[in-house]
Amino acid sequence: MTNLSKRRNFIKSGLAAGCTLLLTNSVSARLLSHLQVENPDPKKLNYCGHTCPNDCKFLIASEKNDPVLKKEAYEIWEMKTRFGVTEFDPDKIYCFGCKTKNKPVGIRLQKCDVRNCAIDKNLESCIECKDLKTCEKDLWKKFPDFKNAIIQMQVKYLKN
Ligand code: SF4
Ligand code: SF4
Repeated sequence: MTNLSKRRNFIKSGLAAGCTLLLTNSVSARLLSHLQVENPDPKKLNYCGHTCPNDCKFLIASEKNDPVLKKEAYEIWEMKTRFGVTEFDPDKIYCFGCKTKNKPVGIRLQKCDVRNCAIDKNLESCIECKDLKTCEKDLWKKFPDFKNAIIQMQVKYLKN
């Protein structure tokens, strides 16, 4: 595949995947279908309750360490305006998943207030948190449908 067609495919499918922190409400709604609704297990969830799709384009770009794909991820995920990364540097653009253990934590994850809060509380996921319903972190305010879905997930988790 040429670099150009690789880039086109990447852009075409890139918006359908990725961390909810970085997506618009309409895309977030699509992601609700990825949620673990039956027997939710906090250990298998990202901190917010989302599960990273295997075909996340940011992850693919990071694993391949491909500067062309990373540049596309930089633009798709609006790293400049949303995360203050004013200059593209492929060595600084990567994401290996919300709960990555053995890889460096990228800027997007570092700036997620939900992730930071859950880690501070020593929780595997916000579905374990008694304050979820009233929590007003930016992520929840930005994606109310997503928050409601996570609250429903919490109800199921607490019944188990
Ligand atoms: S906790 Fe934050 S960084 Fe992790 S998946 Fe959720 S929104 Fe993304
Ligand atoms: S207060 Fe609870 S629900 Fe809110 S971000 Fe922190 S761990 Fe998650």
